[in-house]
Amino acid sequence: MKEPNKIEAMVKAKCPQCRKGNLFTHPWWNLFKFDRMHVHCPECGLRYEREPGFFYGAMYISYAFTVGIMLVGGFIIYNYFGDPEPLGYIIPIVLISVLFVPFNFRIARVLFIHFFSGVEYKKEKKASSQK
Ligand SMILES: [Zn+2]
Repeated sequence: MKEPNKIEAMVKAKCPQCRKGNLFTHPWWNLFKFDRMHVHCPECGLRYEREPGFFYGAMYISYAFTVGIMLVGGFIIYNYFGDPEPLGYIIPIVLISVLFVPFNFRIARVLFIHFFSGVEYKKEKKASSQK
């Protein structure tokens, strides 16, 4: 079987260690449970929350994405919708930001665990072949 590469694992929100187990328990379009994560990787058993409050760091990524979305939104409104009154900016930008919450939340955690957790990709567990 082909080895999943890092980009693939991140796009599919997989475990950084085995790149097989899912990080999240539900798909992103499940609006009530998109934020639920497995405590341990269902494939290799890696504990996702590396230390207490580990994922607080992901909020900075999420924040950066939100600011980016707001800036792009403001730019588009200014250039293509004739620079409206302030509410003409605020309402659509807030709506768009809210729509992107599930995406932002998940991509931030995926990036954070893949780049800042210090977990290395391990091909296969040799000694104890669980499963
Ligand atoms: Zn895993």
